[in-house]
Amino acid sequence: MIYADNAATTQMYPEALKTMSDSAREFWGNPSSLYSHGQNAKDLIEKSREEIAAVIGAQPSEIYFTSGGTESDNQALLSAAYEGKRKGRMHIVSTAFEHHAVLHTLEKLKKEGFEITLLDVHENGITVPSEVESAIRSDTCLVSVMYANNEIGTVQPIAEIGRICKNRNVPFHTDAVQAVGHINIDVVKDNIDYLSASAHKFHGPKGAGFLYARKGSKLENLINGGAQERGKRAGTENIPCIAAMAKALKISSDKIAENAAVTSKMRDRLIAGLSEIPHSALNGDADRRLPGNVSFCFEGIEGESLLLLLDDKGICASSGSACTSGSLDPSHVLLAIGRVHDVAHGSLRLSIGEDITTDEVDYIIRSVKQVVGYLRGFSPIWRDLVSGKKEFIL
Ligand SMILES: *Cc1c(COP(=O)(O)O)cnc(C)c1O
Repeated sequence: MIYADNAATTQMYPEALKTMSDSAREFWGNPSSLYSHGQNAKDLIEKSREEIAAVIGAQPSEIYFTSGGTESDNQALLSAAYEGKRKGRMHIVSTAFEHHAVLHTLEKLKKEGFEITLLDVHENGITVPSEVESAIRSDTCLVSVMYANNEIGTVQPIAEIGRICKNRNVPFHTDAVQAVGHINIDVVKDNIDYLSASAHKFHGPKGAGFLYARKGSKLENLINGGAQERGKRAGTENIPCIAAMAKALKISSDKIAENAAVTSKMRDRLIAGLSEIPHSALNGDADRRLPGNVSFCFEGIEGESLLLLLDDKGICASSGSACTSGSLDPSHVLLAIGRVHDVAHGSLRLSIGEDITTDEVDYIIRSVKQVVGYLRGFSPIWRDLVSGKKEFIL
């Protein structure tokens, strides 16, 4: 099997898996208990918090453990929004291609009376900082722009946006789920107030993540109960997953440059190979993208059939977001960069890891070429395009 769907989830590092089972075996005391068996578990959590904070340039007291990216996004957005409401500021700026964890939370806030401005991300899938600046009003209580997009991999100008938000005194959240562990992040340099991350996107366990909230930023509880996480996230801590997350982040962040060098070379080989397919196009900026992301549209085919036939060839890929698969609607991300419905339906996302080989990349290219040709052979849309009944877009 060739796994090229790391944006959906990653395989755990063996070392992280070992940390998970070792800590479940040895540190099973309740961290809130006063005897040393409980306090040892608490120490492990605090050590994990320090390690994680160091990776993004934060203070340990600014890291809150959550169940993953979705929860972190929800907590960050609701916290900043409700703090805004208390001050009479009910306007939020975000982008059209955020993850549903952000977009659906914004929809909820809209129903509660907030006004939401979703910025265009243009053909290249990049938010323009000056457009963020223009969108900010005196009643803006939050700007939320993702660090890197999960479908098309484009990396956003986070430092510029952070600087603008700081100057305008507006809290800035970034969904960095696709970036943490893959590209270097410094929350101080980038002026980030809230940052969401998820362990299973950097070879850690599923169901674990963290929220960075800069000292002084308001945090609203989503989950009420005990005093865990300094009173901001109740419930007995998931010690094995927290320890494994810290381990996975340490391993991936220690090798960021090395992994990016290998992966981006393979990515560019894939892009060059797939570009040879007629009437195809790369989605998103060619340079400003995650080292492992390749996203294409092929005219005249259905992404779902492509995925099933690639699965037969032992290739795990995606046609966009795991959240849109299974529904007939094309991805909101592809629509946001201006792909029309027909074209957006023929999409393929390959998100590769540093362990992929040149032979595997070449096998993927050969397989995609073959399958796209095969599917076009009996596609009525393709027939109309070739006969001139319909016009090619790509
Ligand atoms: C995966 C993902 C999420 C959701 O994270 P979970 O830990 O699966 O809840 C949020 N945002 C982005 C950009 C993602 O890729």
